[in-house]
Amino acid sequence: MVHGGAGALDNVKDDKTAVRYLEALRRILEHGREIMKLGGSALQSVEACAALLEDDPVFNAGCGSVLNENGKVEMDAAIMDGRDLSAGAVAAVSNIANPVQLARLVMTKSEHVMLISDGAMQFAKHCGIGLAPENYFYTQDRIAQLEDARRKHKIMLDHDSTEEDSEDQKYGTIGAVARDPQGNLAAATSTGGIVNKRLGRVGDSPIIGAGVYADNETCAVSATGYGEEFMRTVISKTICDFAYMKSMDAEQATKAGIEYLKNKVNGRGGVIVIDNEGNCASGFTTKKMIHGWIEHGGKVNVRF
Ligand code: ASP
Repeated sequence: MVHGGAGALDNVKDDKTAVRYLEALRRILEHGREIMKLGGSALQSVEACAALLEDDPVFNAGCGSVLNENGKVEMDAAIMDGRDLSAGAVAAVSNIANPVQLARLVMTKSEHVMLISDGAMQFAKHCGIGLAPENYFYTQDRIAQLEDARRKHKIMLDHDSTEEDSEDQKYGTIGAVARDPQGNLAAATSTGGIVNKRLGRVGDSPIIGAGVYADNETCAVSATGYGEEFMRTVISKTICDFAYMKSMDAEQATKAGIEYLKNKVNGRGGVIVIDNEGNCASGFTTKKMIHGWIEHGGKVNVRF
């Protein structure tokens, strides 16, 4: 399963834009399935899918990341392997084309789970990851979006509603979850965060248990939404806990998790979930969430 953010999605006004989003998801889902067909693991598949989503400027991650209050890109990403709960994350990184790949390296090549800012950049250098130039990240749309947020004195999310007083916003983070034929689960989430955020603000996406979680015994989860609310409810781990403690499947655990998010903090956003039997589920409190799923031998499903 993959997602490309939740929210009002007012920016998807015409069929052409909708097709653009859905075609991207379709192509990336096919790619993820192909990896597993060729013997790749769930972990390899989610990393590859997340990296492709980061490479597409319509999504708020990698080259399409939103801008912070200083007009700069600061990205967060994480990846988790459900086989042994190993995880890697980076936060507040700049000039990295694929933060999810750096997160994977933190997981496999360092003794840590999370590296941030300058330390993460130094680690990238140590791993031989080249820096992407500033202009790789700045699209006209992102500059206009920041100007709009500044004008409204608002911190906004990527797929934010264009209506002045709307509460429904878009959180354009990307994510992927997978279960491979061996029954292994993995999850990845990557984001530019929220528009006009404070310098140094870190959201839920790189926080293990908040924006991402995977455990072979329960589920793989990737979240998108207002990060602060997702951190306070540790939403991804909460969904896994529902599955574990109440023997719920993906759909039941997702429903319970979304209820919890709404009741506790009136949280805005959504999640994609796969359980250890391969059941897929999605849930969101916003008007829409761009997401899709694909099964072994089945057709691709993509929707808002
Ligand atoms: N969850 C992300 C954050 O708060 C935003 C998003 O999902 O678009 O940084």
